[in-house]
Amino acid sequence: MSSQMNEQLESIYSKVVKRNPGETEFHQAVKEVLSTLEVVLKKKPHYIEQKIIERMCEPERQLIFRVPWIDDKGEIHVNRGFRVQFSSVIGPYKGGLRFHPSVYLGIIKFLSFEQIFKNALTGLHIGGGKGGSDFDPKGKSDNEIMRFCQSFMIELYRHIGADVDVPAGDIGVGGREIGYLFGQYKRLTGRFEPGVLTGKGLSYGGSLARKEATGYGLVYFTDIMLKTKKESFEGKKVIVSGSGNVATYAMEKVTQLGGKVIACSDSNGVILDENGINLDTVKRLKEVERKRLKEYVNAHSNAKYLENGCIWDISCDVALPCATQNELNADNAKILLKNGCKCVAEGAIMPATPEAIETFQSAGILYAPGKATNAGGVATSALEMQQNSCRDKWEFEYTDSKLKNIMTNIHQTCYETAEEYGVAGDYLKGANIAGFVKVADTMIPLGLV
Ligand code: GLU
Repeated sequence: MSSQMNEQLESIYSKVVKRNPGETEFHQAVKEVLSTLEVVLKKKPHYIEQKIIERMCEPERQLIFRVPWIDDKGEIHVNRGFRVQFSSVIGPYKGGLRFHPSVYLGIIKFLSFEQIFKNALTGLHIGGGKGGSDFDPKGKSDNEIMRFCQSFMIELYRHIGADVDVPAGDIGVGGREIGYLFGQYKRLTGRFEPGVLTGKGLSYGGSLARKEATGYGLVYFTDIMLKTKKESFEGKKVIVSGSGNVATYAMEKVTQLGGKVIACSDSNGVILDENGINLDTVKRLKEVERKRLKEYVNAHSNAKYLENGCIWDISCDVALPCATQNELNADNAKILLKNGCKCVAEGAIMPATPEAIETFQSAGILYAPGKATNAGGVATSALEMQQNSCRDKWEFEYTDSKLKNIMTNIHQTCYETAEEYGVAGDYLKGANIAGFVKVADTMIPLGLV
């Protein structure tokens, strides 16, 4: 991110920092977007007078609530729940729920802010929102998870709705949790209203291809990006951090396109399998048995488990960070470059630090930001909402082809926007500018919102 902020942007940014003390991830996300806007303000000076940036950096609504629940031993716990409804300019608030001990207001606000621009890039009518809790699902029984989800929904239900705010999954929230949340919403309201949540099970209004969508979408985008350099996944060595939903289906699509995924990870360590990661094993461990990745070597004795290892030390052609924010720093970036990595595309949200991005961009390798590359998940959530609205159910291939189309359009939008603003090849600026302009140009005709 070579561009600096001018005085005007700097002053807006410092007010955001002052007004949201201690929320470092939110500051980072705002700074990243604002650092790309100087060229936009030159072309569209009326954004300044309209105070578009100031308005866009202030959430429309922020909810914080108590979530009490009882564990299997009868002990009472108190967690904190959040929903930040950032922008409903182009559609109902849309974005996942994250259950992770690291969650606090700053994390949810950054995720929600990112979601505004990501959702705008999909070209669909979805605004930006995000929620979650500092609840740690690790090691909890199904009953504990259910009781937590039910307690969480007791407060959340009054703030959501198919035309208001539509939560989905994120880290720590998958099909099981969405099921419990949906069941509780139904009891509280007495309404079977599938459009209120996405990522649902197929038997109660879910969409085929939603589970695969974020990972598949990431790889569709990356494949198109590689093709701009007359390259492809064929024969490429790929590493994918994480082993959750995004990572698993990114690995699956890379493999289908002829690439070889040799490593993935969880928060305890890294699996290195030079024969190619076996996805049936990963799916069994993570989706069915909910176990740690180190068990992988029990089924594949040739593979290595590197306890506390760093996945970015492994030599590869393409790196796909699919775990969490700030998981890849400048030192990791330098090692990737030294080992010959030519392409980095983000499956997680803000996984590369600003210094890592700078390192990739100044080396001139392909780099694409999560806002663009991981938008396939939320885009397919919007397709799920479409199916719910017309009480319909689409085939896997049909939904997947729509997803592919959306990713192709997002790539084209980022690529062409970067060219239009004189920064050809800079996907970060292309994505930030295109998402921002779309929302800004919709705010103006709506009056002072
Ligand atoms: N949490 C995912 C994201 O960051 C999915 C959101 C959704 O489907 O609403 O985009």
